Amino acid sequence: MEWSPAPIERRKSKQIKVGSVLVGGLAPISVQSMTSTDTMNVAETLSQIKSLENAGADIVRVTVPTLEAVEPFAKIVKGSEVPIVADIHFDYRIAIECAKKGASALRINPGNIGSQEKIDAVCAAAKDYGLPIRVGVNAGSLDKDLIKKYGAPCPDAMVEAALRAAATLDEHEFYDYAFSVKASELNLCVEAYEKLAKKTDAPLHLGITEAGGLTGGTVLSSIGISWLLKQGIGDTIRVSLAADPVNEIKVGFAILKSMHLRSLGVDLVACPTCGRRGIDVVNIVSDLEKRLQDIKDNLKVAVMGCVVNGPGEAKHADVAVCGAGNGMALVYERGQLVGKIPNTECAQVIEQRIRNNLLNLKGNS
Ligand code: SF4
Repeated sequence: MEWSPAPIERRKSKQIKVGSVLVGGLAPISVQSMTSTDTMNVAETLSQIKSLENAGADIVRVTVPTLEAVEPFAKIVKGSEVPIVADIHFDYRIAIECAKKGASALRINPGNIGSQEKIDAVCAAAKDYGLPIRVGVNAGSLDKDLIKKYGAPCPDAMVEAALRAAATLDEHEFYDYAFSVKASELNLCVEAYEKLAKKTDAPLHLGITEAGGLTGGTVLSSIGISWLLKQGIGDTIRVSLAADPVNEIKVGFAILKSMHLRSLGVDLVACPTCGRRGIDVVNIVSDLEKRLQDIKDNLKVAVMGCVVNGPGEAKHADVAVCGAGNGMALVYERGQLVGKIPNTECAQVIEQRIRNNLLNLKGNS
């Protein structure tokens, strides 16, 4: 019998609803991103949202930096098929207007919204329009009094900022909120989430903020988010990358897939290659990533350079190719050797076998 990891016991959080997407309460962990376009440019923003949706995004956040951006925001909400979260800083009036204009949730940072009265007003608007709020605490913008009390941003200061905002929402008998406590310093961020998870049953939105570019940000986010997920912490995730946000969705799903928490699309296994390789693994993988990007079924494909580890990996894959020497490759389907092909045809044959034989047999998960 094959070894499989023990399932992760997820922290029991209360459930909120962001548009049609359930967050928390053991709902599937949702993957979200944020547009990087100018919100005033409705067409460009909607185009980016479509790309994110095609990549599998469950929720998309859009910044609304000014009152003038509220009208374009309303058009974006109308044109999007995924729930849109309005990201608000500094001006509480924008949050109220976005609530009126169809946002599926509001994200506010209590450290920069201002007085208690302003937070009260945002809370009342969210309640009136039935929206959840994400209280997004950021280590870089904590209240001055918390910095004074703790001396510097630290996990306890971040947790206190979150709980302070929660107390205000609770006073309004408003309970549909989630938290994030983000920092760019990995350990600070993880510890803040760990501490907060013990103090609240609100859903937690995980992310390491300002994590960096595609490579560095993927590494930091993967470590931080999976570190927390392994402990059962986390109801929705956002990978922050200084790169095309579609990568945030791809990396987010790759993290969830590796933790056996959620799968979307083809799982591509490939050997790192070495001098033994009999096929061009790097180019075949790159070709397959393009050919298979529309497939949502959870299938496993293995591309292996030679017979050292190829047949072993092929046993666990839905389709596999393995370099066999003399310009040829072995093809496996469901662990069985089914043919030998010229090594230039690997990507094409894998795609054909998936589309002809395997799609919809497993279903999405
Ligand atoms: S499978 Fe073969 S080609 Fe790939 S890394 Fe291992 S020995 Fe090298």
